[in-house]
Amino acid sequence: MESIRTEYASSPVAKALGLESSVSELESVLNSGSLNIKIDPGSVGKKNDARYSILLRTLYLANDSPNKWTLAHELVHADITLFTPGFFTPRRHEGAGYGYEKLANEVLSALHADPAPIASQGCKYKGLKAAWHGFWAKYAQPEQLGGGVYQPIRFKDINFTFDASDFRTVKRITTLGLSCSLAAQEINKIWEGNNCCYRVNCNATSSSLLEIAAGVNINDVFK
Ligand SMILES: [Zn+2]
Repeated sequence: MESIRTEYASSPVAKALGLESSVSELESVLNSGSLNIKIDPGSVGKKNDARYSILLRTLYLANDSPNKWTLAHELVHADITLFTPGFFTPRRHEGAGYGYEKLANEVLSALHADPAPIASQGCKYKGLKAAWHGFWAKYAQPEQLGGGVYQPIRFKDINFTFDASDFRTVKRITTLGLSCSLAAQEINKIWEGNNCCYRVNCNATSSSLLEIAAGVNINDVFK
């Protein structure tokens, strides 16, 4: 889990969106003492290198260095099972697991770095606009982020597509969430520090030449 933190250590945007605190949350589950951990390739299955059994409250690992995103995904399941009140269907369990993985692994890396790639375009209107528009063209709606697989019963795989509720759950459990307003605030701070007059915002269109809008309607859950 430490390697996730290191990957985004220089990113004020990732920090503002809750990456660091989400890693701490998942680490606290890992170190809580309530989680059984077993190195047991046979219980993991061939496709993965980690699996969390909700029924047995046990995290099975194929080896002692599992893929960090797989581990994070499984720790979200453990966090729900051990520390989150309320009933989660298999579909909602996986929505949270895959949702966290997607945000932390892919969406954030499209925004992160020092400074953010979107801000690293230099003070050039065209480049900044293309980057900000390009990001939101890809990530403005939960369905655009893809989805995952859940098993209503063992060995029966059903594919699903994310919805807003999945990302509300990810935020509630881990504190990580995609938020246009928080990302824009951080990017604009970097720009201000660089004496650049352009500012990004979260509207679909903009009437000012200095304001660069997202270019699309952003789902409430990502606003
Ligand atoms: Zn899962």
